[in-house]
Amino acid sequence: MAAGAVPEPDVPLAARLFDRLRAQTSDGIGITRASYGEGEQFGHDLVAASGRDLGLEVATDFAGNLYVTLPGRERSAKRLILGSHIDSVPQGGNFDGAAGVLAGLAVVAGLKKAEATLREDVTVMAIRAEETPWFPYSFLGSRAALGTLPPEVLDRVKRSDTGLSLAEHMRALGFEPERVRRRERYLTPGNTAAFIEVHIEQGPVLVEENLPVAVVTGIQGSTRWRHARITGRYGHSGGVPRRYRRDAVAAFVEFAHRVDRRWIEIEEGGTQMVATFCVVSTDPGRATMMRIAGEVAFGLDVRSTSPEALAEMDRFIAGIIPEIESRRRVTFDLGPNTGVRPALADPGLRAGLVAAARAAGIPFREMPSGGGHDTQAFLEAGIPAAMLFVRNENDSHNPDEAMAIEDFAQACRVLMGMLWARA
Ligand SMILES: [Zn+2]
Repeated sequence: MAAGAVPEPDVPLAARLFDRLRAQTSDGIGITRASYGEGEQFGHDLVAASGRDLGLEVATDFAGNLYVTLPGRERSAKRLILGSHIDSVPQGGNFDGAAGVLAGLAVVAGLKKAEATLREDVTVMAIRAEETPWFPYSFLGSRAALGTLPPEVLDRVKRSDTGLSLAEHMRALGFEPERVRRRERYLTPGNTAAFIEVHIEQGPVLVEENLPVAVVTGIQGSTRWRHARITGRYGHSGGVPRRYRRDAVAAFVEFAHRVDRRWIEIEEGGTQMVATFCVVSTDPGRATMMRIAGEVAFGLDVRSTSPEALAEMDRFIAGIIPEIESRRRVTFDLGPNTGVRPALADPGLRAGLVAAARAAGIPFREMPSGGGHDTQAFLEAGIPAAMLFVRNENDSHNPDEAMAIEDFAQACRVLMGMLWARA
């Protein structure tokens, strides 16, 4: 444990940067910072300029991720990374992503002000391209830095608004997609001791429980079908008796109800899970009153921190489909499954965050993360990682995200306390 009082993070600096980000990337409704686009680049430039003002080392990797570093006493020691992403969904909020980068900067600026150094380098990382509405692939920026991005993604995945590939967008900003293609590794378990991500909570728990922060236990994995379809046969709603029907809506309702029942049973068994039919539609060109619907399209998103529970839901779904198909004379086509495995926070880092919150007298709880985060990519790559949530009203990915700067300051203090204990 380091001697002396824990340095105070420079929260006023972060508050000024939040304001500048909001002012410069506002779209009139919310804020828009496209992955490898203008708003994201503004955020990276802003963080880099602040880093230089503070006298810190500023670097960029071949995929465009930004690193602002306070050198440690032992330059050869593995570094600690504090960070998150800077991009946002279209018409999103100002805090999703940016909070993690600016929390890191507030902590590093606080250490610098106090003329304190740690044994190891502390690096603030601004990560590229986390929000999937732009490029529909998870954790592009962090996976590129970690050398875990499948090379074919560079050309196959196109940005939704420009139609240009990820490689083309990287090149346009002067980065080097060929090094991503070769799976070069900028960050490895050999040079990185830990990754810690502060993020706004994307649900109501901290608001409901009146707590400023939470230490995250793990990130839910998922089993997910984005483009599932049930095909039956259109028919006259008055003329076709039940036994001749092939009603896609009736089949969907039974399927959805049984999945929902199974979710309840799994939760009653003590395992955390959420299951959501996010999209359900009949064909608006063909479905009409007085007609049996011959087709239903739907998307199902099941999440849990337990891989066993996700596998159990897969088995359950595979088991009920043939039965519903034969009884109701319809056909299910679930399409590709795009799930990811759950990722549990590093126990040591998690305990460090808990101890720091306790030492600072900051009330907190522990909870899983419902959304996916770059932390997952670090854990997958074998780098210890953990997360801290900050209370946030009105969910995320919308202009009404509301994070109080006092709550953000508490998260920064927890982070500072945790680092200070390693000093
Ligand atoms: Zn985010």
